Amino acid sequence: MSGMKVLVVEDERRIAAYLKKGLEAKSYIVDVAHDGELGLDLALSEQYDAIILDWMLPKLSGIEVCHRLRQENMHTPILLLTAKDEVTERVAGLEAGADDYLPKPFAFIELLARIRAITRRPKQTKKELLQEGSLSLDPNSLQVLRAGEAVALSKKEFVLLEFLLRNKKQVFTAESLTERVWEYDSSVLPNTAQVFMGYLRKKIDSAFPNESPVIKTVRGFGYSLDGDTS
Ligand code: CA
Repeated sequence: MSGMKVLVVEDERRIAAYLKKGLEAKSYIVDVAHDGELGLDLALSEQYDAIILDWMLPKLSGIEVCHRLRQENMHTPILLLTAKDEVTERVAGLEAGADDYLPKPFAFIELLARIRAITRRPKQTKKELLQEGSLSLDPNSLQVLRAGEAVALSKKEFVLLEFLLRNKKQVFTAESLTERVWEYDSSVLPNTAQVFMGYLRKKIDSAFPNESPVIKTVRGFGYSLDGDTS
């Protein structure tokens, strides 16, 4: 476990010093920030294996720091500390992107166990770009490009296109698409998949007449995404 780099963001200097000393004794490399703003700056500019983040902080709260980091696509594991053990707070913390939550006061040994647990999780890696011909979909930035031009899709159209790109050349009936892409959506109608396939085709194929179409209709059966012109 040695050599891991941890950022402690805690305004109570006594607690911050106690954590730094304890973690260093366990061979962690520790940086400390005493307010949310500096904590965010450090977290964005340095590489940490984990961040211990107090909830109540001057300048920027722990929740705000957490939120901003996740917005910036930083997936460093975050352990949130708070004075209260309220379910609503815990939920808010996890929603803001924290990996775990520890109410104060805590035993150092418990904090250590939590840090070990969250750093053991596989890091969220960047998802790879999905492509077919001149069509590309980036699951990280949520951007869809066709022949270098951005295509604006609704959330559902995006999900549908992502599904088709991940299952290229397979043929899906409208019914199976509805099952796989809409799952538990109660607003779904029998022709929903057909309607959305129509929208998608318009936006990624019909709007680009110089490109070879990627959405294929398999007559009487269903759809597939396949850039082959043969
Ligand atoms: Ca505090």
